[in-house]
Amino acid sequence: MLVVWFVLALSSQHVLSQEADGPTLGGIFYEDSQDMKVALEVSAKLFNFKTSVKEISKRGEILEVSQRVCELAEEGVIGIIDGTGGRATENIQALCDMLELPHVIVSEHNDLYNRNWSALNMYPSPAVYNQALQNLVILKDWRTFTILYLRGYSLLHVSDLLQMGNKTYPYIATIRELSGNDYREVLIDAKHNGYTNFVVDCPSRNLEEMLLHAQQVGMMADEHSYIFVSPDLFTLDMSRFRYGGVNITGFRLVKLEDRENVRLWNFTFLFNQETGKVLEPEELKTSLLLIYDAVEVFAAAIKKVNVEAQRIICNNYDAWIYGSSLINFMKTNKVEGLTRTLIFDGVGQRTDVTFDVLEVTSAGNQTIGTWKKSELILDRPLVADAEITQESALRNKTLKVLISTTAPYGYLKDSHEKLEGNDRYEGFTIDLIERLSDLLGFSYEFAVENNYGSKKKGVWNGMALQLMEDKADLAICDLTMTAERQSGIDFSTPFMTLGIGILYKEPSKQPPEMFSFMAVFSKEVWYYMVLIQLALGGTMIFVGRISHKEWQNPVPCIESPEELSNQFSFANSVWLIIGSVMQQGSEIAPIALAPRMITSVWWFFTMVMVASYVGTLVAFLTVEKNILPFNTVQELYNHKSISYGAKEQGSTIKFFQDSENRIYKDMYDKMVAHNWLVKDNDIGVQKAENYQYAFFMESTSIEYYKERHCDLLQIGMLLDSKSYGIGMKKKSPYKRYIDDALLKLKESGEIDKLKNIWWKEKRGGGKCGEKRDEEQKQLGMKNMLGAFVVLGAGCLIGLFISIIDMLWGVFKRSVKYGTTFKYELIEELKFALKFSGNIKPVKRPQKANIDSSFESLAKAEGKDEIRSLHSIHSGKSIDTHRTHHSHSSRHSSRSLSVAFAKRRSYS
Ligand code: GLU
Repeated sequence: MLVVWFVLALSSQHVLSQEADGPTLGGIFYEDSQDMKVALEVSAKLFNFKTSVKEISKRGEILEVSQRVCELAEEGVIGIIDGTGGRATENIQALCDMLELPHVIVSEHNDLYNRNWSALNMYPSPAVYNQALQNLVILKDWRTFTILYLRGYSLLHVSDLLQMGNKTYPYIATIRELSGNDYREVLIDAKHNGYTNFVVDCPSRNLEEMLLHAQQVGMMADEHSYIFVSPDLFTLDMSRFRYGGVNITGFRLVKLEDRENVRLWNFTFLFNQETGKVLEPEELKTSLLLIYDAVEVFAAAIKKVNVEAQRIICNNYDAWIYGSSLINFMKTNKVEGLTRTLIFDGVGQRTDVTFDVLEVTSAGNQTIGTWKKSELILDRPLVADAEITQESALRNKTLKVLISTTAPYGYLKDSHEKLEGNDRYEGFTIDLIERLSDLLGFSYEFAVENNYGSKKKGVWNGMALQLMEDKADLAICDLTMTAERQSGIDFSTPFMTLGIGILYKEPSKQPPEMFSFMAVFSKEVWYYMVLIQLALGGTMIFVGRISHKEWQNPVPCIESPEELSNQFSFANSVWLIIGSVMQQGSEIAPIALAPRMITSVWWFFTMVMVASYVGTLVAFLTVEKNILPFNTVQELYNHKSISYGAKEQGSTIKFFQDSENRIYKDMYDKMVAHNWLVKDNDIGVQKAENYQYAFFMESTSIEYYKERHCDLLQIGMLLDSKSYGIGMKKKSPYKRYIDDALLKLKESGEIDKLKNIWWKEKRGGGKCGEKRDEEQKQLGMKNMLGAFVVLGAGCLIGLFISIIDMLWGVFKRSVKYGTTFKYELIEELKFALKFSGNIKPVKRPQKANIDSSFESLAKAEGKDEIRSLHSIHSGKSIDTHRTHHSHSSRHSSRSLSVAFAKRRSYS
């Protein structure tokens, strides 16, 4: 770089000392446009032109302007470079038109758009600005925006923004005029209206003020976005807005990327030398570069077009004879200037303008795209990407961070040495801030404030107040995010979730209750057991009655019984069932398949139930239980001898104070009236440990104290659900970076790790270990359902088999006795469903004689009975357990058989 400057210095000495011998270029500028005059002098020298510069006052009257133009015409200039603007430019234009002198305009805000033939406009035409702005607004998807323009200047550059809407892009645009020297009033008004997107059409010289005022009124924050029309925006120092979070987009005409652009270096060097300034090429105002380009356009033209300077007298209405051909050539000739290709249309407006679109980001000014051939070509997305956000607004900043000395969030370090500054503290939040600072590159200074902040009678206090008054940047502790606090300050994304719980000391253990053996099964299991036994009893009777084989000869010595008996009476069935439950058995033994099946399933069921009961019973009889004096807040509220309280200044007590719930409200009144509130958690925990005192505390803190005070426990459910966040002032520019960093720490498990360290390890953590939940689990329906289902299924199958058996028997009888199936079925069912009388007469054929022999009677009743009788007669038993029922032998079986047989029907 030094070498370049050295070479430039040498060559510039040469250029400036040389006397130009080319034609003269005229220049008209305002008196105070010193830099423009120098730029013309320097550029003219570089292209070997002589110059004649005229000045006009700011309020240049038509007469003054005309006089200057005529003076230049009389001096024989070959063209006029006009750095004025507005009315003055209009007048110069009119005269140049008449004198046929090329008029090159280098004023940013020339409202001259009358397409006069002798004029060349070096700035992009209003049409180009309009197009580029429209493109940007749509790309940014601004649906509402405000156009800020300066009083006295037209809206030509932005006029299309007011009429670009269509059905696919509905939007609302408002306009505000910046007037006088103080733009703050307009900006504050825009702020109060909630405007955040702005298109600012403000000339170069007012830019600095506009930016300053916007910053002063807090309009350079995260939520604000600006597009500046002036191509001079990036000649200003924009680094002060890098970290504020504001989004600023603007244009730049000069081609800076081309570091080999020696002409630019050369021009900058000479300009600096003449003015005594030390500007970098990018700090040169666009108008100065355009003066250079204008001179170059002249130089390129006179190389091709032969012109002769001529003195022209205005009063004679003369015209310069070479003027028209020179201007025509200048328009059509293509020249590479400092502001890229210079080419004009027939009416002297620059066509094919190319310029850069830049954004101010935390990483500095960045070119995000190029406007080229009437199109916006983006190199990267408009929104700052991840790489840029990493460069945070917090880098190298020192933040004042408020902490509290509340365990485990912050402690004063125990040390025999005298500690200073941040070293004095340790704790969860201290470590958390350290992790954040590692990610975001800020340093910090702690200040302790144990009042977290609330609004009392409209006045804020504590941490919240300090943040609001900008006395601190961040507040980090167990700071609960509440609606009240949110109205005054902002919170980061939450880093912990919690709720209000009740801390109470563990009551002494009580021996098991007298009837604890009943507690093994839940009540519903007991109910179902009784019900199922009744239902099963009914089923057994029914199945027994319709099962053919269950009707047995009650008196085995009589070969041809008049009646058959059934063992499934109500008493027998219940006895069989209870006998199985008690694991004792009974003498009742089913004979037919279906009752056997049902009995087997019942035995299986009882086996499962008894095994489960016995397995669990021991624990119920031996474990001593905590009998809590209350289980819920309601019970605590109703309790006579237990007092309760919370931290006196904090979100917990505020929860009770603001609650709509009558109980909570009453509790609040009681806590205040009896002075049960405590100054901090430590005192609350001490009271809970030593007195009949329940302490309302946040669940995260309860977790912490439970780890260290083994006789404390949390009772009941949480009363609410909320979170902790890092507090900062409203609309803090740091919020988004802190949020991002916190999310990263959460996702990486770092916050959980820190929590584990400070809750379970450091400062006496892990003392109580994991408390074993000794409470025995009662067996409920959901545990035992399987056994019930097996039993149900078995019963159904048994029922099904017995029905088939019955139908088969009915069928056989109907065939044998020549009756209908239906008749037999109805008779059978009638008998079975009576559920009484376990004696059944042996049925005889309709036409059978009552005096027929025993043999024939027995035959008629079916093979089974006969077989059984035979076997008894022969001394063998086919049944293992035969029961002789007393009721069946009440009467002589013979006489009964005869009596029933006489009726020839079922009794
Ligand atoms: N975290 C509470 C707050 O932010 C303090 C503790 C409490 O009220 O239990 O105010």
